[in-house]
Amino acid sequence: MTYRIGLGEDMHRLAPGGPLRLGGVDIPHDRHAVGHSDADALLHAITDALLGAISDQDIGGLFPNADPVNSGRDSADFLRAAYSLVQDAGYELANLDCVVSAQRPKLLPHKGAIRGRIAELLGVPAESIGLKAKTGEGVGPIGREEAIQARCVALVMRRESLTG
Ligand code: MG
Repeated sequence: MTYRIGLGEDMHRLAPGGPLRLGGVDIPHDRHAVGHSDADALLHAITDALLGAISDQDIGGLFPNADPVNSGRDSADFLRAAYSLVQDAGYELANLDCVVSAQRPKLLPHKGAIRGRIAELLGVPAESIGLKAKTGEGVGPIGREEAIQARCVALVMRRESLTG
């Protein structure tokens, strides 16, 4: 078995008016993330972690934000495309571990839905998706609710062929 890991990170500005799109789920909130696509920081971080694990290009290279076709686009498309590249390279997901930093809202009530949606998009068990939430401790852009940030590490594995 060959293992590789990848790291992804993303941040989006927050603006008044909900809902907050995160992990492929629309969370009821009084702010939303601003971006060219649907601004889903968590799916973007996971997408970059998967691409990083196979040393492929990053999400901005695959889906340029200058391209009108990506305007308002569902980030599930980016994630599926990245995982297809992982699978094309002969790898499958071992597990993801993600951290979302947001002062509000509380993510605990939505954790199950988010893990379930990510698992569904990747075709893996929800147990393969780790998700933790942190606040900004009231300081900095996260704490002032000016931004939301997500980080993810992805471990992928490839079974070695006996015939080479
Ligand atoms: Mg992004």
